[in-house]
Order: sequence, then C-alpha cells, then structure tokens
Amino acid sequence: MKYQALGNTGLMVSRLCFGSLTISPLQANLPPEEGAEVILAALAGGVNFIDTAEYYQNYRTIALALLQFGREVHVASKSYAVTGRQMRESLYRALDGLGVSQLAAFLLHEQESAATLRGHREALEYLVAAKEQGLIKAVGLSTHYIAGVYAAAASPEIDLIHPLINRAGIGIVDGTRDEMLAAIRFARQMGKAVYGMKVLAGGHLHRELRIALEWAFKQPELDSVAVGMKSIAEVEANLRLVEALDNAASVEETELARLFSLSGAGPRHLLVEEWCSGCGKCVRRCPNKALHIEDGRAVVNPDACVLCGYCGGVCSDFALKII
Ligand code: SF4
Ligand code: SF4
Repeated sequence: MKYQALGNTGLMVSRLCFGSLTISPLQANLPPEEGAEVILAALAGGVNFIDTAEYYQNYRTIALALLQFGREVHVASKSYAVTGRQMRESLYRALDGLGVSQLAAFLLHEQESAATLRGHREALEYLVAAKEQGLIKAVGLSTHYIAGVYAAAASPEIDLIHPLINRAGIGIVDGTRDEMLAAIRFARQMGKAVYGMKVLAGGHLHRELRIALEWAFKQPELDSVAVGMKSIAEVEANLRLVEALDNAASVEETELARLFSLSGAGPRHLLVEEWCSGCGKCVRRCPNKALHIEDGRAVVNPDACVLCGYCGGVCSDFALKII
C-alpha cells in the first residue's frame, strides 16, 4: 500500500480510504463486531485512513476495530452542526464514541456553496479552535457540489475537501465530471487536501468496478479515495486492485472478477416499501434530488440516486432500504 501526504495536514494516508457508510445502519447495517472485522481486514492490509460521520451511527464499530488493531489510524468524521456549541458537542461525541483523543479531521457535512458555508460560520470557527487545541489535525468539508469545492478552495479555514467524484460524473449536483475535476484541481492549487467519495457512484458503476476504481486511483488530484466496503472479500478485492496499481502491474481481470463476485459488491437499488405514507421527509433530505412523491408514495429516480442511504435516516416508518 502506498501512502500519500494529505495536502498540508502533515498526515500520511493510504491511497485507499475505508469508507464506513457501507457497514453502517444506513446501508448494510452490520452488527458492530462484524463491521469491526471488515475494518480490521482493511487495516491489516495497510489501510490507515477511515472516513465516517456522526450521521452514519457507526462510531462503536470503528472503536472496536481501533481497539483491536492497536496502532495509529487516521479517522475523519463529519457533522451537520451549525452553531459552535453544536459542533463542540458533535466533536466530543466523535472523540468519546471512537475512543480517541484526536481525530485526523472533522468536516462540515454536505456543504453546497459559499452561502451554506457562511451559514455554518460559527461551527467552522469552533473547528479552527479545536485544531488549535490539538483535538483535530485538519478542518474540512464534504460536498456533492462543484460550488462547494470552490467555496472550500476560497476558505482559508478549510484544510481538506471530500468531494463526490466518479468516472461517470453520477451524483454531481451542479455540473459535469470534468467541471468537478477542474474545481478540485483549483482547490489543490490553493493548498487543499482532497479525498474522493462515491467513486463507484453508490453501486451504479458495479458493471465496470475495475475501470471505475482504476480511474479514481489514477486521478493525481486525489490524495486518497474512499471506497465503501461491507465484506472481507470486498476489502481483499480492493486491496488487490490497489496493490496492482501501486506496482504498475496488470490486474488479472479474471482474478478480480472472482474476488469482486465473492464480495457481494453487485447491483443495488433503493427500495420504497409499500407502507410509505408519503410524508415527504425523504424528498427534502435527499442531497441529489432523486426522490419525489407520486400517488401518495415516495418514488426514486434511479439515475439520480447514488445510494448514499441518507434518506433512510429520516424515515421514521423505515420504508426505505438499500438492497
Ligand atoms: S420519509 Fe419514509 S414514509 Fe415519508 S415519504 Fe419518505 S419513504 Fe415515505
Ligand atoms: S434517494 Fe436516498 S439513497 Fe438515493 S441519493 Fe437520495 S438520499 Fe441518497
């Protein structure tokens, strides 16, 4: 596994970052002990960077893995907090929940533009203070928007950006893949660290897994690439691919196909159960505008849905599932 400086943060991170949304209650909902085994397989394979968020509700799973692994791992988490006080509480929940005294980074979750960043001014200022206190190494934001990347690039408080980027440009809300890459390139020139998310577009690119992953790992603008993994077989397949890319070796298509077929990384979709009451909370929650109400029920546009699972978190009727 190759390691790369995470921008100017002083951290060296593995090119493969463990994206932990996949094991969380929003997606595969693995029991903590089982999820920890998957994370441990990645750590044993050289991964030293984990991406999570308060919203994913998986701190306990990650804490179990960190405890068993016993060596330093860089964890980045995110929060929707708006005020300084909310952000402070959120950060301490992360530190306590993960059982660590410092995080690699804490990010403003799902920022859209300079306007939303202004709306989170207090939270951002708290994160800068937390960095000075040594509670975090870097301040960041995550975004599905090109405008969000430009806002971060222009913000001196932001050290790192976690943008949505994939070969097909699926899920980028306000433009194309190449426009997003141009924004990321600009952010890099402004000294920001960047680690990508949704490089498989939430499973849309499952038919071209190898090509989509290779494309992401070959982007010089990405210090690291977060990939969601929910089984040890999937971890092994990704480790094998990254190892081959690191060594500029050709990847045996048949071997990878076998590993990925064992991994369960196949096609997935968002299911709306028949008991949906049509309340519309999920429609308002979806960052990708992939849901609408029709005949009193939520309906998903599969072309716009990146299978993030965020809508499921607001459905009190448990009517949304990624299967
Ligand atoms: S939040 Fe749940 S119940 Fe409400 S519209 Fe969405 S799926 Fe239906
Ligand atoms: S419909 Fe749900 S799973 Fe799909 S992009 Fe929107 S929030 Fe994410």
